Amino acid sequence: MDRRLAKAMVVSLLSGVLIVGFGDMAIADDGVSRAILRIGSLVGAVLGILGAAVAGYLAGRDYDSHTGWERAAYGAGMFYNREPFRKERPTYEAEAPTRRIDWEESFIGRMTTIIEYMKPPDGSTPKWTPDMGVDGLPEPFKSFFRKHPERYDAMMENMGHVMQQIVNWDQFKARFALADAWSASMASSFEEPLGKTHRDRVFPPDPAGPAEEWDFRGIRREEPLPFRSPKLASELLKKVTHTFGATLVGITRLNPDWCFQGLLRGVGMGRYTVPAHWEYAIVFATPHEWDSFYANPTYGTSYDAYSTLRIIGGRLETFVHELGYPARAHVPPSSYDLVVPPIAIDAGLGEQGRKGLLLTPELGSNARLGCVTTNLPMEVDKPIDIGVKDFCRKCKICAERCPSGAISFKDEPGVEFGYRRWRIKDDLCFRTWASVAQSHPRGCRVCLAVCPYTRKNNWIHATSRYIDPRDPTGIVSSSLLWMQKAFFQYPKARDFLPPPLGKNATYHAPPDWLRTEKWFDIETTE
Ligand code: SF4
Ligand code: SF4
Repeated sequence: MDRRLAKAMVVSLLSGVLIVGFGDMAIADDGVSRAILRIGSLVGAVLGILGAAVAGYLAGRDYDSHTGWERAAYGAGMFYNREPFRKERPTYEAEAPTRRIDWEESFIGRMTTIIEYMKPPDGSTPKWTPDMGVDGLPEPFKSFFRKHPERYDAMMENMGHVMQQIVNWDQFKARFALADAWSASMASSFEEPLGKTHRDRVFPPDPAGPAEEWDFRGIRREEPLPFRSPKLASELLKKVTHTFGATLVGITRLNPDWCFQGLLRGVGMGRYTVPAHWEYAIVFATPHEWDSFYANPTYGTSYDAYSTLRIIGGRLETFVHELGYPARAHVPPSSYDLVVPPIAIDAGLGEQGRKGLLLTPELGSNARLGCVTTNLPMEVDKPIDIGVKDFCRKCKICAERCPSGAISFKDEPGVEFGYRRWRIKDDLCFRTWASVAQSHPRGCRVCLAVCPYTRKNNWIHATSRYIDPRDPTGIVSSSLLWMQKAFFQYPKARDFLPPPLGKNATYHAPPDWLRTEKWFDIETTE
């Protein structure tokens, strides 16, 4: 709106200048006409000056006048009007009885713990090595793999892929040297090259001790600062989270079902109830750098968004402590006690897509997530329904392009933990991570990049985003999909893999700043 007003003012300025010009050029042979014209010129000149002043003022207030990171700071990236699409219930369905997800059922949870058993961060003797087999694994992993032997086989096979990936890297390291360096730089605050966590460097620090102590550790006030109202609390917290770097922010009451059962950071493995002070979640999203992201899987990285999310989470945790309330940040790559995408859905940031992740109106699936749990009373946001379910039923592009067939082609999602929702086959997904040409498994993200919702904000996508959710017939989504599939080329799923199976294809061409061959006198392979 500001920008339109600024344009109107500029038009007014030009009109004023024109009136002045015509007034001076006027040749009238009687004094009255000349006087009217002179008054007109004067009014025109004043309007022109006022127009210039107002146009300048409004242009200065337009977020586009900020340079650098401040577009995010003013929430300018969260431009979509969600209000017409707010619903009482999220679009995933709960089918009783629902339950919390066990830590060992989470692929990332399982893998991070088992890797720590194999390579303890303190350098002590490994608790488990592959030659010890299923029976040598500590609980609850032993019981989990006994129940799901095929998942143990998949884990062992994936370990073989990781070893092969490290061997293959020699062949590709010249071509992807810049991509690898950029990714390592983005991870440098929380990870050493090759994926080992910097325990002593991470921000925010890993919890140590019970949540009832750790989450309160930074509070210096006798009493929490009392907000004038939960509505104002919500407004302030969202504003501040944007200034910390978040593109999207939402607030919801925390559904305990989204908290892992079986592990609590700071306490360790074991059954526990969700801490009573985790009443609310402030959930935030940030995109990957777009051009490298479109060149997934090999030129992109998850770590650019991860490092931003860690900073946002750590700052927000501290801010809430400073106001006198408990807080805990849950941020990537694995500093979580809960599953964030459904929390973001509950808070109205978006809906779940076929690939199981969050799909937002502004960023599509280029939205990585973190959250802070607290008991600070806030007004909460309602979930939204922008028609993702229907679109995904027809689209299936992510499933067609997934190199490992990890995404379902079915028309309806399955039931997981009592909820009807999409879930990918994570063992298969990791197989691609461990196969593409990278120095170590650092993700794939092809399904995120190819999604028709994941687009930069040009006029075509802005128009589609406005019209499609308002069309009850589904004709708009069918037409958009037809155009997407008819006019845009995607590499074949297998082509994303390295030779001999594939061609090291990327969704889009990489940006020039990640092409090693442009900057260095070095031989690269295909
Ligand atoms: S990240 Fe890659 S392998 Fe995993 S589901 Fe997406 S496209 Fe498939
Ligand atoms: S690519 Fe298509 S099917 Fe997959 S999440 Fe996006 S819209 Fe849904």
